[in-house]
Amino acid sequence: MVLVGMMGAGKTSVGKRLATRLGLPFVDADAEIEAGAQLSIPEIFERFGEPYFREGERRVIARLLNGGPQVLATGGGAFMNPATRQAIAANGVSIWLKPDVDVLLARVRKKANRPLLQTADPEATLRRILAERSPTYALADVTIESREGPHESVVELTLRRLDETLCGVRTAAAPPDLRRVEVPLGSRAYAIHIGPGAIDIAGPEIATIAAGGKCAIVTDANVAPLYLDRVRASLEAAGLATVSIVCPPGESTKSYAEFARVCDALIAARIERRDVVVALGGGVIGDLAGFCAASLRRGVRFVQIPTTLLSQVDSSVGGKTGINSPHGKNLVGAFHQPSLVLADSGVLDTLSPREFRAGYAEVAKYGLLGDRGFFEFLEARFREVFSGGPARSEAIATSCAAKARVVAADETEQGERALLNLGHTFGHAFESLSHYDSARLVHGEGVAVGMACAFRFSRRLGLCPGQDVARVEAHLRAVGLPTRIRDIPGLAADAGAILAAMRQDKKVERGRLTFVLVRAIGESFIARDVDEASVLGFLDEDLTLAAD
Ligand code: NAD
Repeated sequence: MVLVGMMGAGKTSVGKRLATRLGLPFVDADAEIEAGAQLSIPEIFERFGEPYFREGERRVIARLLNGGPQVLATGGGAFMNPATRQAIAANGVSIWLKPDVDVLLARVRKKANRPLLQTADPEATLRRILAERSPTYALADVTIESREGPHESVVELTLRRLDETLCGVRTAAAPPDLRRVEVPLGSRAYAIHIGPGAIDIAGPEIATIAAGGKCAIVTDANVAPLYLDRVRASLEAAGLATVSIVCPPGESTKSYAEFARVCDALIAARIERRDVVVALGGGVIGDLAGFCAASLRRGVRFVQIPTTLLSQVDSSVGGKTGINSPHGKNLVGAFHQPSLVLADSGVLDTLSPREFRAGYAEVAKYGLLGDRGFFEFLEARFREVFSGGPARSEAIATSCAAKARVVAADETEQGERALLNLGHTFGHAFESLSHYDSARLVHGEGVAVGMACAFRFSRRLGLCPGQDVARVEAHLRAVGLPTRIRDIPGLAADAGAILAAMRQDKKVERGRLTFVLVRAIGESFIARDVDEASVLGFLDEDLTLAAD
């Protein structure tokens, strides 16, 4: 068993306890190197330089790996060496103790003997090294979040994960048909667990993040009677204290007033930085609770348990949180990544068909914007997605993986992430012109009409073949989603009013309209500086068509 990870991650403390539990010897590679050289590691660095140390480290670890069963703790840089990684893969099981950056900082501050941290700004250096190394550490066979809390709980979790990995043993904490999608964001990386029963692993999973801590569950009055007890029971069984905050359902909950009320309730419950906010609900609760978590004490961790299809495939992943202002939607917010997402596809069975369809528009979006094969899968198996068969979990997992890829490439929406807005420039205008009246139009329906518009607009510009446009419209209609502007009840706006509403959108940069356009199903691109006259021409034509 080879422990890898950053300095201060707890490899020695956890390694010793793990070795005791397994009845194996514990070996510390750094101690072996120091004993062999008769020098401390800082002295080796100082006298001979890092490359010399790394080569010695490689040789020592290669020797130790041939020394029979043991628990071996390696230095922070050891796993970066491809030859060492190869030797570990051939002879052992690698276990990454993945650090919480705040815990790491606190631990390494206590020790002044870290050669790589002898810089003007050790904290910035540590964060940089962590970001650089995390993708490589993630290649380890097993990843264990090492957070503040007793080392014993890290050891327990490690033993469970080793059972699963080595013996195929699944504990009650991991129902067999859960899928796992990683969001690879370096030190802010997290996992999404998807499938029926995901909600029931809340306790054991969150216990690994905040052993012995407190969980504040923020939910809404529709979701609370359905799932709050289940989540609470799972958390309490894992030794986590809980407190619940129930908000009114609906978009109006993303308000300054409710933000203040929830923050004050969290403060009153003494939720501190080592505790966790759990968002149990749809996108409204995820956005609000996430923003409260981002703001409380300048940021506490939060876990998303999304309960609508839209929130499972979209809003719970990626870290956008926020509330609405009287001036518009989502105008006040923060990027704050969750520590974990549990997307239980079973809880969608209680969702109204209309809300399910609205979320499905976002699922279809991932196929339309970048994955033609996924769109074809949906065309063939959408009935199963709706009825709750295995295709549902597969569609959610594919959507989450697509979002995770885009978010990892562009976390704060400087470029590629904008592709996720396919259909949204049109859709947001329709929502705004419908005064966000969900009786007339919910977000996903606006996106469905918006995506159909984006395809028709792209065809008009000579970019996209007509047969693809027809296919998109046919599929959206087959699942019961609207595709035409005329499908939006009571929308009396003309082309000029729709264009004016588009100009209000966040996606307008310095007065220029940005669209996501398509060359085909699965081939989207960002078009900045779209000529307003051609948008007007398209809208006029589309509205005329609509009147036929
Ligand atoms: P929502 O949270 O309002 O949920 C829709 C309705 O379903 C609510 O009445 C809710 O109480 C109910 N509900 C939730 N789960 C249920 C369940 N399992 N069974 C029965 N009823 C249930 O709406 P939504 O569509 O999930 O989210 C919309 C919000 O998400 C918007 O505010 C939007 O701005 C936001 N959003 C955010 C992002 C992001 O990246 N942060 C992305 C897309 C959308």
